[in-house]
Amino acid sequence: MITTPNRTSNWFARAVSDTVGGLGQLLWPAKCVNCGRHSVERGSGLCDDCWDGLISVCSADYCRRCGRDVSPYVAREGVCLSCRGEEIHFDGIVRAGRYAESLQDMVKAFKNDKTELDSIMVWLADTALETSTFFQDIDFFVPVPLHWRKRLRRGYNHSYLVAIGLKHPTAKVNTDLVRIRNTKEQPTMMTVTARAKNVAGAFAVRYRHPFAGRRICLVDDIKTTGATLNECAKTLKEEGASKVFALVLSVAGQNMM
Ligand SMILES: [Zn+2]
Ligand SMILES: [Zn+2]
Repeated sequence: MITTPNRTSNWFARAVSDTVGGLGQLLWPAKCVNCGRHSVERGSGLCDDCWDGLISVCSADYCRRCGRDVSPYVAREGVCLSCRGEEIHFDGIVRAGRYAESLQDMVKAFKNDKTELDSIMVWLADTALETSTFFQDIDFFVPVPLHWRKRLRRGYNHSYLVAIGLKHPTAKVNTDLVRIRNTKEQPTMMTVTARAKNVAGAFAVRYRHPFAGRRICLVDDIKTTGATLNECAKTLKEEGASKVFALVLSVAGQNMM
């Protein structure tokens, strides 16, 4: 039987029009916070071109199991054809958008010192989270950790900055998931197998972590093949987590399997 997944078309555009005023109270640079080229007319922090780019990559339907773009007409029981048979350790995913256009620029810049994008990154993550079916089922937000050497070099973990800004009535941010191996950078073209091997055994939890029997939502900036999220989810479940969900700003590598 062919069923349609949750429709997300235009949710982003509606959210934009509802929120532009609110964001404007936080950010009103004379120039676009993303491209810096145009003057900002609407008090949103972004110029019209950057908003248009954002809307184009944030409005598509996507698979709630793997996060890839999906047409409602090719999904079966809410799962896309690309991820059927794929071993996925997390129990659902929400994303702000596809890794393209101004969202790609912002995600890249955010982890390369442009921390002034934190308000818009958090707003994008919050807006995506509100569309999830697991919003009420989260005990902890757990940012995907950086190795301590990388965090020291960068000065911050961008996923942590997003996690601490999220609006949720009860869930707490927890950093007891740690990266114990300084894995290689994963270029976009790295194969799925190579990515999985690169992060295998790279994560562990701190002694006296609170994850047993709890429901966790991982927070990250980008999902490519899902190898990192998968390894984090596997580690957390081995430590007793009952559910592990994922919230990402963007999904890349749509055709990678
Ligand atoms: Zn712009
Ligand atoms: Zn899928």
